[in-house]
Amino acid sequence: MNYISTRGQSPTQSFSDILLGGLAPDGGLYLPESYPQVADRLAAWRTLSYAELAFEILSLYVDDIPGADLKAICDKTYTAQTYRWSRDAAKAADIAPLTTLEADFHLLELSNGPTLAFKDMAMQLLGNLFEYVLDRRNETINILGATSGDTGSAAEYAMRGKHNVRVFMLSPEGKMSDFQRAQMYSLPDANIFNIAVRGMFDDAQDIVKAVSNDAEFKAKYKIGAVNSINWARVMAQVVYYFKGYFEATKSNKDEVDFCVPSGNFGNICAGHIARMMGLPIARLVLATNENDVLDEFFRTGVYRPRATAETHVTSSPSMDISKASNFERFIFDLVDRDAAIVRQLWRQVDAGGSFSLADGPFAARLPDYGFVSGSSTHADRLATIRDVWQRYGLMIDTHTADGVKVARQHRVAGLPMIVLETAQAVKFAETIQEALGRDPVRPKELEGIENLPQKVEVVDAAVDQVRNIIVRHC
Ligand SMILES: *Cc1c(COP(=O)(O)O)cnc(C)c1O
Repeated sequence: MNYISTRGQSPTQSFSDILLGGLAPDGGLYLPESYPQVADRLAAWRTLSYAELAFEILSLYVDDIPGADLKAICDKTYTAQTYRWSRDAAKAADIAPLTTLEADFHLLELSNGPTLAFKDMAMQLLGNLFEYVLDRRNETINILGATSGDTGSAAEYAMRGKHNVRVFMLSPEGKMSDFQRAQMYSLPDANIFNIAVRGMFDDAQDIVKAVSNDAEFKAKYKIGAVNSINWARVMAQVVYYFKGYFEATKSNKDEVDFCVPSGNFGNICAGHIARMMGLPIARLVLATNENDVLDEFFRTGVYRPRATAETHVTSSPSMDISKASNFERFIFDLVDRDAAIVRQLWRQVDAGGSFSLADGPFAARLPDYGFVSGSSTHADRLATIRDVWQRYGLMIDTHTADGVKVARQHRVAGLPMIVLETAQAVKFAETIQEALGRDPVRPKELEGIENLPQKVEVVDAAVDQVRNIIVRHC
């Protein structure tokens, strides 16, 4: 399988070439040249374990890693030991277990990995793929990133102890929850470097951009990233749509709906790809919080990224985005993969503008892709957490609550609705307290992690100080 850029002006690449990179040189995002059609394989795949299913799907997209090696990577990544925090410990071997709330209404548990958010599902694979490819090429990489919580910890837990990989993760000093801070800063591994920046998340992000834009420094110190536009992350997420489908249906003729709490459009983009491959998904229900850029698009055909200052700080913070970095992938498909149209639309976006497909030829095509959408507020979130607790005795996190709220608005009788559970309640204890007047139960192993020794360097919001840390450790 070869990979092409959504902007159409970069050379075609192999999987291993795009694995370690970020954007294509023309500013676009990589996608496979075509989507393999798998409708006739569903019967054979239905009974596979998660690791086996991952291998089957990944094999379609990865042709420059020998099959036996890719199989070993899948087996090592998707173990019951790594994804052990299921509600029902007996289901840990499912990796992504299905929890049924009521007839035809399910949660797909994706947050049973080491950092209790769905990003582990893809990031753990990425860690093993990075190590494999770097070893083979005899190269090293220094991953530089900024995080406000979930992504940074998922990256650190995926890369800890890996050969030839170092992680330099910036976070705003004092702005994460005690739990999130403890999760990251207590990692003892010698290849993980936490850097707390005296400032806000945006200051940390700006430093990452400044360092990455310094081409000489970037090349000399092999600076890389693991952000949400990484194709391998999207690819890994395709797998659990198949898994969820098999769990919720009896026959490969049945259709299902998925509801996806969305921010950067990475998770639901994987659902779109699963649907394009022939998985019988009727609709992809996109749920946003108060940051409703994507809900607005699917309701009106207008994509209007917000200024950072316009972004709401909400109680489902991992969905607080002003623009959706993976959205370009879907638009590329929607406009029949005409890169010239994508270039023109993103000229407007990159200049701080917006675009509308409401009146053109593509508006009529939008329904063919199965998307519907809705948004949620803090009050909805509290009410939904309370309702799910009272009705089913299950505690859900704030992002999943946004999904459940929007899913309910779109349910069709007789059609299974699967809500992706993107994090565990324990990560957002403050809002759980507000909704339920009690603290979420924490897995035993994670009790008291706030008291472990922490490893972090504190710096001013200054590019030089961060650069010095990288130089010192490389
Ligand atoms: C990252 C994240 C999301 C948003 O996922 P996208 O792929 O950015 O759409 C939703 N919920 C949680 C808990 C997350 O960590």
